Amino acid sequence: MAATIYYDDDADLSLLKDKTISILGYGSQGHAQAQNLRESGCNVVVGQRPGSANYDLAVSHGFEPVSLAEATQAGDLINILLPDEVQGDIFRDQIRENISPGNILMCSHGFNIHFGFIDPAGTEALLIAPKGPGHLVRSEYEVGGGVPGLIALSEGASAETHALGLAYAKGIGATRGGVIETTFAEETETDLFGEQVVLCGGVSELVKAAFETLVDAGYQPEMAYFECLHELKLIVDLFYQGGLSYMRYSVSNTAEYGDYMSGPRIITDDTREEMKRVLSEIQEGVFARNWIAEHKSGAESFKSRRQLDHDHGIEVVGRKLRKLMSWIDSKEV
Ligand code: NDP
Ligand code: MG
Repeated sequence: MAATIYYDDDADLSLLKDKTISILGYGSQGHAQAQNLRESGCNVVVGQRPGSANYDLAVSHGFEPVSLAEATQAGDLINILLPDEVQGDIFRDQIRENISPGNILMCSHGFNIHFGFIDPAGTEALLIAPKGPGHLVRSEYEVGGGVPGLIALSEGASAETHALGLAYAKGIGATRGGVIETTFAEETETDLFGEQVVLCGGVSELVKAAFETLVDAGYQPEMAYFECLHELKLIVDLFYQGGLSYMRYSVSNTAEYGDYMSGPRIITDDTREEMKRVLSEIQEGVFARNWIAEHKSGAESFKSRRQLDHDHGIEVVGRKLRKLMSWIDSKEV
């Protein structure tokens, strides 16, 4: 069944005229959504703890940030744009008691509500998720475009909340690109699956394993870096513009033949079985519970994994090579 997609004409911004929207957190999504909504004529209150660069940023953008508790009290629509792993505790300690009847609890990722770390109790929950990072949500809006988004409602939420959601999506520019109707479960589970299996986990391991294979066979790490990591961007850009077919149209016939011969030897039936197991663990909440437990116990293994890859040969040679390519806006963490 094809998805239902909403555009500008399906959304009525005037529904938000007498409402206050509270944006909790002025990070990647918070800074973008707050500014876009304000420029769309909405009343926006920013909740942001003091003493951080994001607080100063909100002030420099003309907001007067208040505490998360005060912002929650002020809002009719309250959007929690804090890191997923801290939302549950912050909701319990600073947000829950400040919600009034009739308020709408919002988020841009269903993780906490779907897996039960946040219980909205009697409050209707609304998800408006831009399908892109905050800086793009902001920069596209500024040039008259919009990053597409998703809309989902908690079970039993009213048609009025749906209409307010579309108005909100219009306010951040998302209906310019299109807003797809989904559910909390579908958004949360597909988002986690995509980042684990392809975008972050799958692709990082693939790149590292291929790099190690070449280096172990005696090839120079610089060569391995270019072939296994650097050129990935060229391929992904082709995917992005015209899908798999356009990539195959663009590369040489030799590359295309090798693609068909070797690709299925790398992604095997075992890999597909493992993907299904990863999906099951996401669906059953195993991954979510592990992540929150890891965070609560100090995230030691998370940090040591981060350090391990930071020191990997591909990172060492990459840091050196990227400095030589002046057109790359090279970054270091
Ligand atoms: P960021 O990490 O960019 O921003 C987090 C914000 O929360 C900052 O303002 C930060 O303030 C504040 N914060 C962090 N920890 C605490 C704390 N313990 N107490 C109080 N405030 C805190 O988050 P994102 O914008 O990336 O993510 C927000 C939500 O949006 C998440 O649900 C995420 O899944 C979702 N999302 C994110 C996307 C993205 O591209 N980033 C895309 C789509 C959805 P401070 O500076 O003081 O730490
Ligand atoms: Mg995602």
